[in-house]
Amino acid sequence: MEIKKIGVVGAGTMGNGIAQAFAVCGYDVVMTDIARAPLDRGLATVAGSLDRLIKKEKMSAEQKAAALGHIRVSTDLAALADSDLVIEAATENLALKLEIFKKLDTLARPEAVIATNTSSISITRLAAATGRADRVIGMHFFNPVPMMALVELIRGLQTSDATYAQVEAVSRAIGKTPVQIKNSPGFVVNRMLCPMMNEAIFALGEGLASAAEIDEAMKLGANHPIGPLALCDLIGLDVELAVMQVLFEGFKDPKYRPAPLLVEMVEAGYLGRKTGRGFFDYR
Ligand code: NAD
Repeated sequence: MEIKKIGVVGAGTMGNGIAQAFAVCGYDVVMTDIARAPLDRGLATVAGSLDRLIKKEKMSAEQKAAALGHIRVSTDLAALADSDLVIEAATENLALKLEIFKKLDTLARPEAVIATNTSSISITRLAAATGRADRVIGMHFFNPVPMMALVELIRGLQTSDATYAQVEAVSRAIGKTPVQIKNSPGFVVNRMLCPMMNEAIFALGEGLASAAEIDEAMKLGANHPIGPLALCDLIGLDVELAVMQVLFEGFKDPKYRPAPLLVEMVEAGYLGRKTGRGFFDYR
């Protein structure tokens, strides 16, 4: 079965980006959320993103109108009943996602694939909440979705080869490059990236160098476009801490323990750019 109709659960940062990525490639998308306000914000974000593409002359006004015309919104999950692929991108919460997966399993077509954009929850566990575990897979997109080329495709223990092949094909059809990964805490990118940022925070906490020097060293010495501490400020220190806790709990290996300074910064409410202060000052 070729995937044609896309359902997206959640119209937040990732959900609206995923909807945009499919809609610009001509796929019909239905995006759902719990209320009208997040749907309106999601649609406004997509429109703003397409406007920036028009400004950069990467898109015409007609293409923008066509893309927006491909996105329908609803506050009712049942609007996803005829989707071929549903991508769940709701708030990162196990109980919430288990509930959404159970509902999707009852209302989506039996042959539909249910994917999740979760960063930290086991795909195997979500799949087991459904009666179609072979048709459940992780599609881990990166923020901002329309710009980032990678999608990690995470196979739960039960994911079938046919499901993987379908999702790989549709990922390539929207211009993304998929990598195939086994279900495991942090998948690949967060498994490496988050410990690197955590190590930078250990170094800062030990007084090895200043925040500016640590970042300068990694930019000039490792050719990174952004230093690990500035990156952590961008992602959010709370998000970094949550991922480290998932790795630490998941592997029970002390090498993943969160840096004490990271824990304390989060306790202080210094979450990075979003609060105006993290390892650097944005006020
Ligand atoms: P967000 O808070 O921006 O958006 C989540 C949306 O889900 C909200 O609009 C919320 O109203 C909606 N929602 C909550 N319950 C719902 C329900 N029952 N039905 C439908 N919608 C519901 O969060 P986000 O950053 O977009 O993250 C979404 C998912 O993507 C999470 O699983 C997260 O781990 C993952 N993720 C996030 C990033 C990132 O950089 N933000 C990157 C990769 C993956």
